[in-house]
Amino acid sequence: MGKLFGTNGVRGVFGELLQLDFIYNLARAIGTYFNGKEILVGSDTRHTSELIKKVVFAGLSSTGVTFYDSGIAPTPAHQYAVKYYNLDGGVIVTASHNPPEYNGIKLLGKNGDEIPHSEEDKVEEIFFEERYVKPEKLSKCKGFIDAIEPYINGIISHVDQEKIKRKGFKIIIDPACGTASLCAPKLTKILGVKTYQINSNPDGFFPSREPEPLRENLKELSNFVVETNSDFAIAFDGDADRAIFIDNKGNVVWGDRSGAILSKHVLKKHGKGILVVGVSASSLVEKVVKSQGGDVIWTKVGSVIITEKINELLAKGVFAFGLEENGGFFYTPHQPTRDGCMSLALMLETLAEENKTLYELNKELPSLFMLKTKIEAKNIDREKVIENIANKFKNYRHDRIDGIRVWINEIEWFLIRPSGTEPIIRIFAESDSEEKTKEILKYAYEITKDEINKLSLKQ
Ligand code: MG
Repeated sequence: MGKLFGTNGVRGVFGELLQLDFIYNLARAIGTYFNGKEILVGSDTRHTSELIKKVVFAGLSSTGVTFYDSGIAPTPAHQYAVKYYNLDGGVIVTASHNPPEYNGIKLLGKNGDEIPHSEEDKVEEIFFEERYVKPEKLSKCKGFIDAIEPYINGIISHVDQEKIKRKGFKIIIDPACGTASLCAPKLTKILGVKTYQINSNPDGFFPSREPEPLRENLKELSNFVVETNSDFAIAFDGDADRAIFIDNKGNVVWGDRSGAILSKHVLKKHGKGILVVGVSASSLVEKVVKSQGGDVIWTKVGSVIITEKINELLAKGVFAFGLEENGGFFYTPHQPTRDGCMSLALMLETLAEENKTLYELNKELPSLFMLKTKIEAKNIDREKVIENIANKFKNYRHDRIDGIRVWINEIEWFLIRPSGTEPIIRIFAESDSEEKTKEILKYAYEITKDEINKLSLKQ
């Protein structure tokens, strides 16, 4: 049987994988899976999202499932709406941080969580076996539901609003013309934060910067923080479930460092807890969490897996939360999912509580430098590439939680793993200096390139 779902739902280029008849049939499979239940359908700002959403409506209608339209909103707002309106699940049309030609479909379960991969398999089975239900009567969209207001109210209920207001913060928001533009400015207004906005007009072609916040596309934002003497800047990804911060001196504070700062704050707020973290994050996260009396569980990379693990712990009565190095932070009292605007509110609360700048809080963290890169691996067995590399390093200390992570010594390591959303292999490296990390990253890149070339020659 084929495989449709990757790390975060079904993703592809519109017109290639995402043909209209494919989307229609996928929606029929989804409608069959949710048969007899009530769901929502929402989207991001992509130029193809409205069209895809209409095709999803048509597919769902053909199965008779009951559905609502939650409009254009951040992914976490659609997720929050599932729970808020007491629905059974949802469909989000989004390709998150991918380039504008991409789009995708993500499924939500009862609490608005991304459904586990085992449930996605059931939808795939219906799709490939063409077991679509055919009701006597078609269903139609039951109307619009607002995902944004309840979501913002949810976020502010989890932070000390007065404490934040008293600080008179000044920040910059960069939504990359994505869905954060619909929420983040409203949130900061309520919290009394003076806010500059750049790239804040929703535009599905992402004309300003790529919808993935990367060090190389945040330089202008860094300069702007210094010029305006702001407390920090926040750069969201396209669907606003992830966010990268820039400190008051214009330095990018990568996701695992900002996540470590937030984790420390969360542990102070809630006492003991377990942080669930994807294996591509810096080992500094573990050091910080343990120094605060918490514990860490490392998982495969991917928000679906992190959410699943968090839910498992919460069900046992253990306080758990999560992070990803790419700027995803899962604050579970709000919802057990990545949430860019929740991270923003928590960061404001952290700065207010600690009475320190983001630069100072980052400086207090262990000095470890992590860098990452990627290499194209189209039409190649990426698992085989990883296997061959793992074989090469079998006598080194390593783990296979996701791809292959090789420890050179106590603090230096590299990780090579296939991306779950694109035909690429991602490479990560860490050490205690930027220079050394660059060297390790280059070394890991060369090994990967070499293995890809060897496999291409064999094909
Ligand atoms: Mg995203």
